[in-house]
Amino acid sequence: MDKDQGVIVAKSAGFCPGVKGAIDKVLELEASGKKPIYTLGPLIHNRQVTDMLAAKQITSVDRPEQAADKNGVLVIRAHGITPAFRAEVLQSGMEVVDATCPLVKHAHDVISQYAQQGYHTVIVGDSGHAEVIGLLGCTQGKGVVVSGPEEAQKLPSFDKVNVVAQTTQKESVFFETAEVIKQKSAICQISNTICHPTKLRQSETIQMAKNADLVIVVGGKHSANTARLALLCKELAPAVLHIETEEELTPQQVLAPKHIFITAGASTPNWVIDQVAQWVRHTRANRGFAFMGMLQRLWAKGVSYSFYTAFAAVALTYVCMKLEGLHSQIKPLLFSWLFVFSLTTVNRAFEDKARPAGRLSALTGFIAAGLGLWVAWQMGGQVFALAAAFMAAGLLYPFRHFLKSKMLSLPGTKDFFTALGWGFSCAFLPAFANGMMLRKALYLAIFYAVLLVFMRSVTLGFTSANKDLMIGKESFYKAFGFGKTKLAVAALLILLTSVLVTLLLITWKPALVGMLLLGNLYTIFIVIYYYSHPASRGVKEETLIDGQFFVLWLLAWLSRFI
Ligand code: SF4
Repeated sequence: MDKDQGVIVAKSAGFCPGVKGAIDKVLELEASGKKPIYTLGPLIHNRQVTDMLAAKQITSVDRPEQAADKNGVLVIRAHGITPAFRAEVLQSGMEVVDATCPLVKHAHDVISQYAQQGYHTVIVGDSGHAEVIGLLGCTQGKGVVVSGPEEAQKLPSFDKVNVVAQTTQKESVFFETAEVIKQKSAICQISNTICHPTKLRQSETIQMAKNADLVIVVGGKHSANTARLALLCKELAPAVLHIETEEELTPQQVLAPKHIFITAGASTPNWVIDQVAQWVRHTRANRGFAFMGMLQRLWAKGVSYSFYTAFAAVALTYVCMKLEGLHSQIKPLLFSWLFVFSLTTVNRAFEDKARPAGRLSALTGFIAAGLGLWVAWQMGGQVFALAAAFMAAGLLYPFRHFLKSKMLSLPGTKDFFTALGWGFSCAFLPAFANGMMLRKALYLAIFYAVLLVFMRSVTLGFTSANKDLMIGKESFYKAFGFGKTKLAVAALLILLTSVLVTLLLITWKPALVGMLLLGNLYTIFIVIYYYSHPASRGVKEETLIDGQFFVLWLLAWLSRFI
């Protein structure tokens, strides 16, 4: 549980395993770029995620016939479908990927098993909900849906009945309803099919909402499980707000309550929850300090819109130029800023949905790229040609699927290409522009920049994954998992430290190398901190991670006085 400013965020908030699994499957299919993807109904009821899927041309259809391209892939969403509809879908001739949640499948099996033995089925849930329609399809025509004990009272008596729950049902409603049916049936099987993640979410909500003055429930207005969570909270807390994003909140709503509890439905991505929590905490932290609040918001914008990262690249360029024995020059520093700003902005606009995205962002990135090329041109024709090649490769990276190149989708390539791009602009280009090739200092600077940026990129990928940022397998962490990522970053840190210690021992630029070794401590601290306290990517995390380049810049600058 994360407590700060009297604001507690539920541990269980965010995607449930079923929804996460379905989204991961769809994004992996999309990343392979093979075929158009169609989901049978919206994948989840969350506007931010459905907007993201629409931007990736992932279309929702109700039936296979509605798919414009019959060579596409049909994805059965986490809610599942009826056995009859499944048979139709399989006969459609389209490739079918089943992303039904295993816990929903379990409910299907329980219903089918008893239906085969002649049991009637009573489903406690929302009639018309996609999952309930799927459950009803397993009852062999002997099923009925009730929303609670009142409707159960109106049912006839049964010889043999199996009572099951929609997986996101409130437990108390399910048991009260089952009790009513039991009273009027000869044989009554009570099958509690409420899934474990829902039980956890409900028990945490019951425990925490009781002690809160305000509960904020984050999630789609059309999401049944979020609406049910909000209803549960209304029974427990004096005030409840059901919102989709922080934009629906006003400072007045969050300033007065002493204790605020934030929770979310199973279809709400963690990055949306984080944005709400961050906004509420900032607002509460800055009551009476309007100026500070404004500064914080400006800072957050600077980080979100990649300005800060671009300045971090300038800091690294300065350090590399010191390693190469060059005096700092404005053109390579300016080029680094424009290069990293343009590539980060364009890539985020198309790939990273937790960031300000869209056409305006992409346009700003392309304008910066144009300016970057103009600066490169000022450094000479050859510099321009190389800069144009790297710029084009970086800007086209989000569209790599069109190339159908396996190499571009290899595990971890995204982090590697990011590091390569920074290595080019921060270390290679300044030396190349100064006619300084084939020198050991240049190789060392490239090695230093690529290694640092690779570790930064892998660590950001790790924090992004904690936030459900929908990153693909090209990210090292997504491809190799927690253990191997930690091991790889630790090995790279040891390698970097060993190289710096060796340089110090052979007294190669001892003042500068000694200072960089000192700066290495900051990097080690950040890495240990993030991998031992898995955090979600946010303004603070990016500020700290990119902060290493400013620390190194300061230390490199101070080395001139030693
Ligand atoms: S709510 Fe439970 S059953 Fe439904 S998709 Fe999520 S984990 Fe699966």
